[in-house]
Amino acid sequence: MKDKRFTLVSDTPCPITVLNDIPLVRLQFGERTPLTSVKKRVRVAKGALLAEHGSPNVGDMHASIDGVIKDLTASYVEIQYEGLPLDVAGTAAAAAKDTELARPVEPVSFDGLDEIELGKTLKRLGIAIRPFTRPCELFIINCLNPEPGMLYTQELLAVHMPVIEAGFSLVRRLNNAPEFVLALPEGGSASLEGAGVRHVSPQYPNSLARPLIKIVTGAERTKHVTLVRLHNIFQLGLVARSGLPLTEQVATVFGKNYLAPLGTPVQTFLDIQGFKLESGDSVILGGAMRGVAISGLRRGLRKVDDAIQFIPKGSRPELEDNPCINCGACVLVCPMRLRPNMLSRYAEFGQYESCRKEQLATCIECGMCGWICPACRPMQQYFRMAKLQLGMPTFQHRLRGQ
Ligand code: SF4
Ligand code: SF4
Repeated sequence: MKDKRFTLVSDTPCPITVLNDIPLVRLQFGERTPLTSVKKRVRVAKGALLAEHGSPNVGDMHASIDGVIKDLTASYVEIQYEGLPLDVAGTAAAAAKDTELARPVEPVSFDGLDEIELGKTLKRLGIAIRPFTRPCELFIINCLNPEPGMLYTQELLAVHMPVIEAGFSLVRRLNNAPEFVLALPEGGSASLEGAGVRHVSPQYPNSLARPLIKIVTGAERTKHVTLVRLHNIFQLGLVARSGLPLTEQVATVFGKNYLAPLGTPVQTFLDIQGFKLESGDSVILGGAMRGVAISGLRRGLRKVDDAIQFIPKGSRPELEDNPCINCGACVLVCPMRLRPNMLSRYAEFGQYESCRKEQLATCIECGMCGWICPACRPMQQYFRMAKLQLGMPTFQHRLRGQ
């Protein structure tokens, strides 16, 4: 039977609002290196290159609005909006010659580029190209909303299909997979020329990579399968259509969909929706099942953040190191057929090697066991702590650097 708490589709449309007039953005460098010309009080044009990543697979970083660099630290740059000066004809900001970073950015053409040059060009435009270039036998585009409460994929499929098609045309140039499949929620009718369709029950955690690949292929092993989220194809499509760097992000924020400049602070979304946080409320970056609480409201939207959730105080039971009552509910619900009860006990008492033997690496941090646990044990926190102790990548680590 379907559980409404874990549904991945919405009964009502939720249009994507485009945000343009953002007074300030905060862009996280991640593992990128800022250019030496990036300094406080320097004027920047939207699309100006600000930081580069050493890996050919990870996208570089660009200014997402016109403005002036207001603050700069080792981890972020803040840009305050300021329109670029007009030229004498009163047209675009062509007169902005005070720094290299202030020059308006010209679109690039992808025509005639071979696979290698195309990949390099997209990386310079901010795209993390690794998922698109990985050789595979089957390339799946995941069109399910990643987690309950996220609403944007239905809108992308309904309204922004030309952008998705533009992204997919570049995917076809980057990847020679013999088979492409759109994994759609049951009832979905979207299509892409050159891709088959597979309908999937829109119930979490079917949207996560391992369960979805199992549903589509019937096999546990994922070696020859690449799975990319629709949101990544959309980002690629934005760049494909404009020829300009990636400066926007689609995300579900506090129950509404936005296409917002990268780096838009959480506080700006709160202001737009008129939310006032009370003591004890939480804001989660990412989905309610796998996201992490943020400590500051100036935190800006990153390329990997497709949701920000508001959790009012008291709306969820408090997690505590309560003893396991051996109910077995977590074992029944785990999609990876692990024993979360044993894993959590080992992690709680620092028996990390036992966690390894219990296949902790297989845990996809879906959060189902923690959600269901009647003892309110902090299951994901245990697993993330144990993974860190064992040098295993966590879900949040995988997001880093993209
Ligand atoms: S978070 Fe829990 S339910 Fe999900 S895969 Fe890990 S152990 Fe299983
Ligand atoms: S759901 Fe919680 S209480 Fe029940 S067995 Fe799992 S860890 Fe123990």
